[in-house]
Amino acid sequence: MTKSNDFILEVKDLKKYFPVKKGAFRKTKKSVKAVDGVSFSIRRGETFGLVGESGSGKTTTGRLLLRAIEPTEGSIIYHLDKEYDLLSLDKNAMKEFRKRAQMIFQDPYSSLNPRMTVRDIIAEPLICAQDFDRKTITERVKSIAAKCQLNIEHLRRYPHAFSGGQRQRIGIARALVLMPDFVVCDEPVSALDVSIQAQILNLLKDFQEELGLTYLFIAHDLSVVEHTCDRIGVMYLGRLVELAETESLFYKPLHPYTEALMSAIPAANPDEVMRPVLLEGEIPSPINQPSGCSFHPRCRYAEELCKHERPEWREIEEGRFVACHYAEKLSLLGVDSYMNVNV
Ligand code: SF4
Repeated sequence: MTKSNDFILEVKDLKKYFPVKKGAFRKTKKSVKAVDGVSFSIRRGETFGLVGESGSGKTTTGRLLLRAIEPTEGSIIYHLDKEYDLLSLDKNAMKEFRKRAQMIFQDPYSSLNPRMTVRDIIAEPLICAQDFDRKTITERVKSIAAKCQLNIEHLRRYPHAFSGGQRQRIGIARALVLMPDFVVCDEPVSALDVSIQAQILNLLKDFQEELGLTYLFIAHDLSVVEHTCDRIGVMYLGRLVELAETESLFYKPLHPYTEALMSAIPAANPDEVMRPVLLEGEIPSPINQPSGCSFHPRCRYAEELCKHERPEWREIEEGRFVACHYAEKLSLLGVDSYMNVNV
């Protein structure tokens, strides 16, 4: 059984609603439920993946976990050098927390200030922390830059002089220069060429081994998370619909949405035929979510019950959670019902 201090982070019933204001008096009419009651824990030293279509709430969840945006409701507890109840921290405590948790952004172009040199970009977190003298800052910047395969010459240049892969190395150096414990990686390779993606993923893996980092890895590409993450949470319309160890999830998804995502992964073997599970229509608007199970308009297993009753988030095997009335039925269908098969 996992003890609570094995977890670096515990999230309970996290919600983020963005008000939609309309009319001359800008009255709040409705809310966009970007994150709607998400609960999960992340183990110390693991890579926890968060996947789902665009608009499922992955990035908003990542930002909430660093309090880059304020949640509407819920609790976020970190067990770092001490316990941090994130939502009750004052300004000074937040400053301490920021040394322990950092973020790597998706877009290596817009996330770097074009008016700052690479040296200043990497040094900025150290300067903001106000704990380091000039000499230490210079040494730390050179050391992390070297580990990210940036040389001394690069430190004097501006971001526009670099390729996408090199820019993401600068972003990684900036996030890790404070030696944090926890890093939110928000689609860190999705803007990069495939050949560069592997280099960046290997770099993140090397840092994890060297510094004992814990990652929250946000991605929409399942083939990336398969090789990167220890456990994966699948999100749909602001809610988690399945959470499992990576191997179990890829071997046998138990939620129809996970099943559809898996079936869309291209086969590496050209002799395999694809059997994609086609999802009908677009992801519904988070302002007007469907009743009952929010996946029911697109689900090929939907029954009458699904239209009226929201499925419970339940643990159906040890460490395996799913929100579907008929998860057991899907479990009995077997792998061949959705996976690519040899001809
Ligand atoms: Fe599909 Fe019903 Fe399960 Fe929702 S609860 S995923 S509609 S089978």
